[in-house]
Formats: sequence, structure tokens, C-alpha cells
Amino acid sequence: MINVEKTQELLEITKGKTIVAATKYGNHTDISRLVDIGIDNIGENRVKAFLDKKEALKDRKIIWHFIGHLQSKKVKQMINEIDCLHSLDRLSLLEEIQKHRTKPLKCFIEVNISGEKSKYGLSPDQVMSFFEKTQSYDKIDVVGLMGMATYTDNEALIKSQFDLLANLKADINKKYKQNIECLSMGMTNDYQIAINSGSTHLRLGSILFKKEE
Ligand SMILES: *Cc1c(COP(=O)(O)O)cnc(C)c1O
Repeated sequence: MINVEKTQELLEITKGKTIVAATKYGNHTDISRLVDIGIDNIGENRVKAFLDKKEALKDRKIIWHFIGHLQSKKVKQMINEIDCLHSLDRLSLLEEIQKHRTKPLKCFIEVNISGEKSKYGLSPDQVMSFFEKTQSYDKIDVVGLMGMATYTDNEALIKSQFDLLANLKADINKKYKQNIECLSMGMTNDYQIAINSGSTHLRLGSILFKKEE
């Protein structure tokens, strides 16, 4: 169930940023509730759940984000159903999207800013050359970078990882004379730090939901 009060409070304090509701913990009724409150950017992690929820909500005006890891073999069935992808992380995925997408797709390049082996994303030193490659795919429109910080209460460590992502964006803009504006960073545990480091897209999940009683 959606925590309406908390969600409204978050909308107030994040004015000017986009909240992408991570709805893997919820069902389509929860998403409908979020749209009623004023959150119409919805992010899903899994292809099947995304397609089911989109079908159930086809009468609502929603901007659909895919925020989870995307397997190449699943691209074909979903890539024309989304508005934005937060997990562009490899060349083979570029190829697959180029093959199946019918119009340019807004993408965030996912960067492994925590350095943890279990996390997806390009290593920071691969990002520049990967960005350069994206420029020859007309179905890929890179709008920003996405990253997930270490899950810790060490705020200085989290901040250093978000700053790394912000600096990479600045480097791309400088080197390739681009105007990439977006940073998808900040979750329930660390969104305040992300805002201070220049986040434009907060991917918020558990904080929007009421704890089970
Ligand atoms: C679940 C999820 C989130 C939100 O996580 P919370 O900590 O619940 O806010 C953000 N991004 C991705 C990719 C997720 O899978």
C-alpha cells in the first residue's frame, strides 16, 4: 500500500527533480494511486511484471521507465513499450535495441560507481569510450548516467560515488561537446545525498510504501 502522506512530502522536498517510482514492491493499484497523487514516472525492474502492469494500466497516462538489468533476449518484446531505459550497460544491448526499437529511446548509461562485483554497469574508466560508441546508433538517445551507491550509512563514501557519476557526466559534455543533463541516482537510503550531488532523477521504492502490518 502507498504511504500517501510520505509520498506527498517527498514531492514537496524534491521539487524540480523527477521522482521515478520504483514499483517492484507494488501492484497496479499502487501505481494508480501514485498517478493520482502526481507521480507519473514509473520504473519497473522485470520485463514480465512491467508488461503486465502496463497492460493493466493502459488507460492511465504514465511515463514508463525500465530500471532493472535488461537481458538481450528480452529486448524485442518490451523495447517499444518503454519511454526511458536506465540500465544501458553494454555494446550487445546497444545492438539489440538498435535492431528492434522503432524510434529513438531515451537512455541512461549505467555505471558501477560502487565498484562492487555484484553490481551491474560499466566501470567508470569505460564510460567515455562507450558513450562515443552510442553516438553511431540512431535509436539510442543518451540523456544521462545512472548509478547505485554502496548500501551503507557512510555518507562520505556515498557522496564520493555520486560525485564520481556527476564528474563523468561533466567529462562527457566537455570532451564530446554535449549537453547531457540527467543523473539517475538516489534511492530510499541515500536520496538526500544524491540531491546534493546534482541528481535529476530519484529512483524511490520502499519509502513510498507503507510497511506491512
Ligand atoms: C528497487 C530499486 C530502486 C529503489 O530502491 P529503494 O531503496 O526501495 O528506494 C531504485 N533503483 C533500482 C534499479 C531498483 O531496483
